[in-house]
Amino acid sequence: MQDFQDYNRDKIFELVKSVSKRKLKIKEFVELIKFFTKDPENIRKIIEDSINQGLIKRNGSEIIILKRNKRVRIIKERCNDYCRRCNRKIVNCHYVMLHNLTLGPYGSECVKKFFI
Ligand SMILES: [Zn+2]
Repeated sequence: MQDFQDYNRDKIFELVKSVSKRKLKIKEFVELIKFFTKDPENIRKIIEDSINQGLIKRNGSEIIILKRNKRVRIIKERCNDYCRRCNRKIVNCHYVMLHNLTLGPYGSECVKKFFI
């Protein structure tokens, strides 16, 4: 578990800061984290860490994002690859470019779950 935390936590924080909505339902927030891990224990830990870091706060069934980062864009190009989230074969690759990090490629359905 420690390895996962070290490797992915900063990326997840970076991603959360780039979401265009200020509020997400907890379910939507979990969808975001699932780009990195599907393990419920890790997901719980990431939510806890995000709260402790002052990145988000919980408000009933919603997550309010407290820190924002606007430098993000999505690049689309023709490709012949597999979606990093659902593993489906894709011919339109979407890459999410955060200021020091590129995520992807993802298919057109999965990339919507970034809420960017
Ligand atoms: Zn996909």
